[in-house]
Amino acid sequence: MTFGRPVFDVLVVGAGPAGVLAALRAADLGAKTALITRDEFGGMAANDGPVPVRTLAHAARLLRDARQVGRYGIALSEPVLDYARLLGRVREVVDDVRAHSTLREHVDRLGVTLYERASAARFVDAHTIETERGLRLQADKIILCPGGTSRRLAVPGAELTATHSDAWSLTAVPPSMLVVGGGATGVQVASIFRAFGSRVELYQAGPRILANEDEDVSMAVATALRESGMVVQEDFGTIESFEKTPDGVRMHFVKEGVRHQADAALAVVAVGWMADIAGLNLKSAGVETDSRGYVRVDAYLRTSVPHMFAAGDVTGHPMLVPEAIQDAFVAATNVVRGASTTRGSHVSPIGSFTDPEYAQVGLTGAQARKTHDVVVAVVRFDETTRTIIDGQTAGFCKLIVDRATATILGCHVVGEQAAEIVQVVAIAIAGGLRVDALAQVPLSFPTYAGILGRAAYRASEQLHLDVGRRVYQGEA
Ligand SMILES: Cc1cc2nc3c(=O)[nH]c(=O)nc-3n(C[C@H](O)[C@H](O)[C@H](O)COP(=O)(O)OP(=O)(O)OC[C@H]3O[C@@H](n4cnc5c(N)ncnc54)[C@H](O)[C@@H]3O)c2cc1C
Repeated sequence: MTFGRPVFDVLVVGAGPAGVLAALRAADLGAKTALITRDEFGGMAANDGPVPVRTLAHAARLLRDARQVGRYGIALSEPVLDYARLLGRVREVVDDVRAHSTLREHVDRLGVTLYERASAARFVDAHTIETERGLRLQADKIILCPGGTSRRLAVPGAELTATHSDAWSLTAVPPSMLVVGGGATGVQVASIFRAFGSRVELYQAGPRILANEDEDVSMAVATALRESGMVVQEDFGTIESFEKTPDGVRMHFVKEGVRHQADAALAVVAVGWMADIAGLNLKSAGVETDSRGYVRVDAYLRTSVPHMFAAGDVTGHPMLVPEAIQDAFVAATNVVRGASTTRGSHVSPIGSFTDPEYAQVGLTGAQARKTHDVVVAVVRFDETTRTIIDGQTAGFCKLIVDRATATILGCHVVGEQAAEIVQVVAIAIAGGLRVDALAQVPLSFPTYAGILGRAAYRASEQLHLDVGRRVYQGEA
């Protein structure tokens, strides 16, 4: 240490979900804590990720619903999107969510010293950071929560491509769009802009889009996107370059030795999320990264430097707000009390607000079959009352159960309210509920979650478990 006694016990770098929760936990445990962030409080989650993107997705849903009202005897003219007004609404939502967050108040109440919009911080040594604007802070212990950033392609012309964040600076919906990357973000961007009227082509390098989802989910979503008029190219080959054209951008790619090209007004690249550590000068602090470029942590979320911990997207752990929060709690507990708590495995439901919506919790069919003898029950959305009432009959619910113990291993849903439906299964899994017990919960009728009762009943039947009472309930 260069400068006497550090001012803070704990310094947290980054005020996204991970950083905010880490600072709260450290302060709650009595540490004199500082939280510093380059941008707005709330991080990417509040300002550039789930909140604004889901507001766009909600607008896409409203457009879809407006086009369907004729089936219910309501006459509307063709809806017209004013993109500039929609972006105004996005800003309003972001501000509103921020204004209603109690976290900021909590940070103040616990006496955390907050440095917001402080410009980028970089390490001077293992206990000292300095921002671009010259603020210098020191601490005994540090928690790294700088999050992640879009991975860019290393090909000529990559600077001509956009990321999901560029949606905020568009002045109108582009007439055509290439989306490179068929993971959660790419598919979400493609689905939203298709609904807004763009001609969308989605390019996935691997054999299927949504490779982390159950295969049936990937297939159903790809089919639905194609039916919506989107071009979905899986196994499309390798990108060689991008070039500027009078109307936008051209992508050159090669597959099996044959050269192809695709033109659009805009090319959005969503090929992964990497740790946002380029400017942090972690080397000077001695913090090591792993082969994928994320900060290396052990089970206690301790980095290679014993007094530094890390949480959130920067570690490469599942990149979700609940995961960031769970890890932040562990990291901050260990920073203050000494390494004593490890990050356990927890139920982690995931859902995406595409059209169709999809969601999962637990193991996919392929994962479950590797380690268990399973039974699988599938209920289609065109079989259940609420989905028929709402005219939302596309989709299915797939429940995966361990044959030996009747415990629920996973659930995968495509269709309206998919993300809400899997929350119920997450609670069932977390509570260790057997499938026959789930089958006997009298879920409200007619609801989307009611599909779970029927799926659980079918799985129980296959297991020869007595759930006779179920047949007297609405969705048996
Ligand atoms: C398009 C999109 C949609 C998503 N949708 C969902 C969803 O629906 N549900 C879900 O759970 N997750 C979703 N995610 C993922 C989720 O947003 C992240 O997992 C989460 O934000 C990670 O939190 P974090 O605190 O690690 O990082 P972040 O939220 O990225 O926050 C990091 C903070 O660190 C600051 N920072 C970075 N470098 C420095 C520096 N050098 N000095 C000072 N400050 C710095 C940044 O300014 C930022 O405030 C989505 C992500 C994207 C991109």
